[in-house]
Amino acid sequence: MKTLFRRLSNKFLIAFYPSCPYCPSCGRVLLDDKHVICDSCAKIIFARQKCTCKICGRAIKGGDVCNICYENKYTYDKGVSLFVYDRHTAPIIYSIKYGNNIELAQRLGSLLYYDICRKSDILSETDIILPVPLHKDRLKIRGYNQAEIIAAALSEESGIRINSSVLIKTKATADQIGLKKTQREQKL
Ligand SMILES: [Zn+2]
Ligand SMILES: [Zn+2]
Repeated sequence: MKTLFRRLSNKFLIAFYPSCPYCPSCGRVLLDDKHVICDSCAKIIFARQKCTCKICGRAIKGGDVCNICYENKYTYDKGVSLFVYDRHTAPIIYSIKYGNNIELAQRLGSLLYYDICRKSDILSETDIILPVPLHKDRLKIRGYNQAEIIAAALSEESGIRINSSVLIKTKATADQIGLKKTQREQKL
């Protein structure tokens, strides 16, 4: 009954207030501007990040290092991720990349700063933040680089300078949305 009432009130609010903010993960209307993801989704998304691999940042059930890092050697020193990519977080990524949701990208960039500080001291050894570049053709279509927006928020929170012109993407690659992990790795 509670869920039905919530669904109806959600539809009512969207009908009369089409531009109202809503949770990009579940679509529920957000009744205040303090949050960009609703409480229920935030609990699910961030609860799984309590125990993470000390090398790649993947969520693990226990121990220090995940099975993948135990068997492989990566070319980077350390990875930290804000959340796991799954059915709860895929719509968030989609909203940032294709929904023009710049505010969400900024808020996640700030959140990323606190998350990194909680999991690692990597920022104390960081001289510069380099966002992953977007190919110029895609930048023209999208109008913004979501990685740069997230990195700018991270830079503002941490005080570490950002440089968005050092890395240039010269090859236009297909989008990663919908690709499996192995397909993503092959594209790099
Ligand atoms: Zn939600
Ligand atoms: Zn790992």
